[in-house]
Amino acid sequence: MPHSNSSAVTRPGGTSNGLLAALPRADFDLLASDIQTVALDQNAVLARAGDEVDYVFLPHNGAISLMIDMANGQTVATATIGREGAISFLSAIGPAPSAMTAIVHVAGTASRIPSFRFRDAFNRSRAIRHALQAHVSAMLTQFQLGTACNALHPVEARMARWLLHLRDRTGHDVLPLTQEVLSQILGVRRTTVTLLMCNLRASGAIRSDRRGEIEIDRSRLTAVACECQHTMRLEACRPISLSRDEHIALGESADAM
Ligand SMILES: [Zn+2]
Repeated sequence: MPHSNSSAVTRPGGTSNGLLAALPRADFDLLASDIQTVALDQNAVLARAGDEVDYVFLPHNGAISLMIDMANGQTVATATIGREGAISFLSAIGPAPSAMTAIVHVAGTASRIPSFRFRDAFNRSRAIRHALQAHVSAMLTQFQLGTACNALHPVEARMARWLLHLRDRTGHDVLPLTQEVLSQILGVRRTTVTLLMCNLRASGAIRSDRRGEIEIDRSRLTAVACECQHTMRLEACRPISLSRDEHIALGESADAM
């Protein structure tokens, strides 16, 4: 589990999470006293499919993969979430078991809020509901694109896409990934990943793959990835922001903006 350093985020400008940063001060303050900053350790499980959701996580950095677990033990990733969004955000609607397993694949930090406190603030704040609605819309797009990608695009292009998504989260070309984790993300056998790695190394798109680290050549890997990489990147990078009109509709004075 992630561990807490108990340092609270005190205002919207003090967080790098896009969802929290988009909130007007009064709405952020509904959450502020319940926020803990926690470390997201590599391979930590933030939510497990079927388990009750205890916390909502709003990452400041790092990358979390949403995984579907099949009855035969196979897994596949359906989306990644980083600083633009939240993990277990649907618990705002009401208590329910998690539909997916959320695993940290690039370590980082996050704001953690008890789900019942997040739900309470969600019910009281139109701005929080608006920000979450924007995030849900972006996630639905990511899920739909992912479904199309899995059905239509070759696994080598999908692997390149996932590596580039994770590269976007880390900001550098050495990714803390094993072939085993890649096989779980892609829903393919480990031997398939080994073969794909071999091909990508031969083309120069992968520079090295050893000791749990994969070094990529970003431009060469981009040439291998399917178009979904670019489309999903735009979705993930789209900031959640309330326009001036929306601020006014939410009942704020212009001075508060
Ligand atoms: Zn694709």
